[in-house]
Amino acid sequence: MSQIYSHVVDVALPIPFAETLSYYLGDGVRPAIGSRVWVELGQKQRVGIITSYHQNFISNNTLKPILLDLDCGQPPTIGKDLLKELRWAANYYHVPLGEFISLGIPQNLRKKYLLASSVEYSIMLNSDLVKDIRLGKKQAEVVELLARGNLKEKDLIKALNINKKILTPLIEKGILVRTTQAPPQVINVNKDKRLSLNQDQKNVIENISKKIDRFCPHIIHGVTGSGKTEIYIRLIEMIVHQKKQALLVVPEIALTPQLVDRLSATFGDTIGIIHSDISSRKKMDAWLKARTGEIFCIVGTRSASFSQFKNLGIIIIDEEHDQSLNQSSKQSYSARDFLTYRAKCKNIPIILGSATPSLETFYNVQNKKYDYYYIGDRANKATLPTIKLIDLNFAKQKNGISIDLASAIKEHTNNNKQVLIFINRKGYAPVLYCNKCHDVERCNRCSSNMVVYERWNYVKCQLCNNKRSITRSCNKCSGSRVPIGVGTQRVKLELEQLFPDKNTIIIDNDFINSESKLKEVMEKIKDGQADIIVGTQIISKGHDFPNITLVGVIDGDHGLYGIDFRSQEKMAQLLFQVSGRSGRGTDSGEVIIQTHNISHPTYKYLSEHNYVSFLDYLLKQRKETDWPPFTHLIALRVSSKNEHKLTEQLNAIKTLIKKNQLKINVLGPVFDIIKKRKNMYSGHLLIKQNNRRILHEAIHQIKLILSMSSKTKGINLKIDVDPYEL
Ligand code: ADP
Ligand code: ZN
Repeated sequence: MSQIYSHVVDVALPIPFAETLSYYLGDGVRPAIGSRVWVELGQKQRVGIITSYHQNFISNNTLKPILLDLDCGQPPTIGKDLLKELRWAANYYHVPLGEFISLGIPQNLRKKYLLASSVEYSIMLNSDLVKDIRLGKKQAEVVELLARGNLKEKDLIKALNINKKILTPLIEKGILVRTTQAPPQVINVNKDKRLSLNQDQKNVIENISKKIDRFCPHIIHGVTGSGKTEIYIRLIEMIVHQKKQALLVVPEIALTPQLVDRLSATFGDTIGIIHSDISSRKKMDAWLKARTGEIFCIVGTRSASFSQFKNLGIIIIDEEHDQSLNQSSKQSYSARDFLTYRAKCKNIPIILGSATPSLETFYNVQNKKYDYYYIGDRANKATLPTIKLIDLNFAKQKNGISIDLASAIKEHTNNNKQVLIFINRKGYAPVLYCNKCHDVERCNRCSSNMVVYERWNYVKCQLCNNKRSITRSCNKCSGSRVPIGVGTQRVKLELEQLFPDKNTIIIDNDFINSESKLKEVMEKIKDGQADIIVGTQIISKGHDFPNITLVGVIDGDHGLYGIDFRSQEKMAQLLFQVSGRSGRGTDSGEVIIQTHNISHPTYKYLSEHNYVSFLDYLLKQRKETDWPPFTHLIALRVSSKNEHKLTEQLNAIKTLIKKNQLKINVLGPVFDIIKKRKNMYSGHLLIKQNNRRILHEAIHQIKLILSMSSKTKGINLKIDVDPYEL
C-alpha cells in the first residue's frame, strides 16, 4: 500500500550506504535546506542535513518523522553555497554527501546541539537623523562613540557605563539601528612598525590586486625567507578593508606564531583560529561567527577549509605542497583542490605560496592555468646558504655523525650560533638485529620493524605503538642482538658526547605531541636555550630562526629511491625546506648533507638552489613513466584481516572491471607500502586514465558493477581519488 505524504525531505546522514534518506515533516515545521535535523536511523538517533524538499511524496514504505529542527529556524547550518561545494567534493571524491558534510561541520554541530537563538546584535548609528534631535549628555556620548563605528550592544554599555534604557528612545526614533551586521573592525596596525615592502613583494601584491575581484589561482614561489608571510598579511588587510573576509590555511599553526600574532594584533577578536589544539567549543564559535560575518579572517589547518563565510574575498594556502593538506584516512581529499574549487565558485582569488611548489601546481603554471611569481632573494637581504655534500661511502662516521659534520658543528656553536640536525627517524635505532641468525625484531601486528628506544629500554612499533622491553639475546638462536642504524635519540647522545658543554634538544613527535608543546619549544629555541636541535620533519618547515647558521642532514638519501612515485618529490621538498632553515639572519649559513649517492641529480639542483630545474627534471621523468600530472589516478583500496582473502578480493574486482571493458587502465593488485597495520592487510588496484572525466565516469560504473555482483559482497572498499600515497 502506498501512502501520500504532504511534506517530505531528503536528509544526508554520515552513512556509507546511501546518499540521502527520506523523512516526513510534521505540521508547521519547515526548516530551510541545509538545516540540521534530529532523526531516527535504525535503532539510533542521528544528526542529518536537509538537502531537498518533496511535495506530495508517494511512498511504499512508512516514512519516519523529522524529530527536531536543530537549527531552530535560524539560518541553516550549511548555507546554499557551502552545500553546493560539499556536493561537488562528495561527488568528486566518490563519498556519500552525508559523510562529507560531517567532515565539514564542527564536531559540536554533529551532535544534538540546538543552535541558540541568541543572535548578538550590534548597534549602528543612523547619522542622518542625529542633527534633528536634542540629546542628553550620555546620549551624546553614545552618538559620538558610534560615529566611529558599530559596536555590540554589550560593549557599548560597558564602554560608557550606561543603563540600557537610555538607548531605547534613540532606537525608537531610528537614530540607532540594531543590526546583525558585524561591527567594522578597528585596525590598529602601528604603521611605523611595519616593514616597508621590498620591490619583489610590491610587484606580487600589485599584480594580484589587479585581479582581486575574480577567480584566479596565483602561485607565489618564493625561496624560504623571501617574505611571503608579509605578502599574505597585506593581502588579507586589503580584503578586509573592502569589507570582505579572508581564509588562510597553514600546515601547522604552531609554526606560524608571528603570522598569528600579527593578524591577532590587527583584527583582535575578529580573527578565528581553527586547529586541533583549540577546544571544540571555540572552533564551533569561530565557524559560526565567520558564517554571520562577525569574524573577518579564519586562520587554520586543513579542517578550516570547510569554514563558511558571509562574504569571502580571498583564500590563501601557505606551503601548498605540504602533505598535511591531504587527508588520507577515512574520506580522502585534498584541501588545496577543494579550496581551488571553492574559490572558483565564489569567483575570488586563491593564493598558493611555497618555497617548493608541488609538481601538480608547477605543471598548471607551465600550462598557463595559474599566475606565477618567483622571488629568488631573501627579504631581509640574507644570502642563501652554501650546500656541501659528504660522501658516506668514504667518510668515517660514528652514530650518524661524520668527522666533517662534527667539526662544522663545533665551529658554528663556538661562534654562538645554533645548529639544526635533521634526521627522519625517531628513537635510538630503527632496527634490532641478531648478529648470528640475522633476524630482525618485527611487530607481530604490523609489517614493520620495532624501533629501539634504549633510553626507555623498550622497542616500539611506529605504526601501532605496540611496545615490548628490549631482550638482548635473540629468541630464535640466542645470539646477541644489537641496534642498527641511527634515530634522533642516538644522534643526540653522540652529540652530547662530542659537545658536553652544549645544550642539545630533540624535536620529534615522541616528545612533541601538540601544537602548544611545539610552540613552547620553538620559543625556547628562539630564546637561545638550545645550541643543537635534532629533529625530524617537524622542524623542516615554516619557522624563522635567525640564529641557525648550520643545518646538517644525517641521511639525505632517505626517500630518494622510495617505491612511491612521489617519494623523490617529497624528499627533495624536504631537503630544500630544511636547507632553508639555515642562515636566515645576518650571518650567512651552511648546509651539510651526508649521502651515499653524491651524484644523485637532486643534490645538484639543491646546491644551485634551483628548484625550478629540479621540477623540470622530475616532470620529464613523470612524463616518460606516465605518472601524474600526465595521467590521473584513482586507487581502489581494500583491507582485510586475511592476506590471502585480500588478494582474492582485489582480483575479483579486477576481473569484474575487465569484463566490462571500461576505457581505463587497471594496475595491480599490489599491497600498500605499509602492507599490514594492526593485523589488517591492505592493498589496492590503481585505475589510470589521461582524461579525468572518463576516469570518474568509469568509477561510477565500477561502483554500480560491484554493488550488483555477489562476488564482491562485503568487501571493505575505499575509493581514493588522486591518491597521495600508495
Ligand atoms: P617566508 O614566509 O617567505 O619564508 P617571511 O615572511 O617569514 O618569509 O620573511 C622572512 C624574514 O624576512 C622575516 O624575518 C621577516 O620579518 C623579514 N622580512 C619580510 N619582509 C621584509 C621586508 N620587506 N623588509 C625587511 N625584512 C622583511
Ligand atoms: Zn605494530
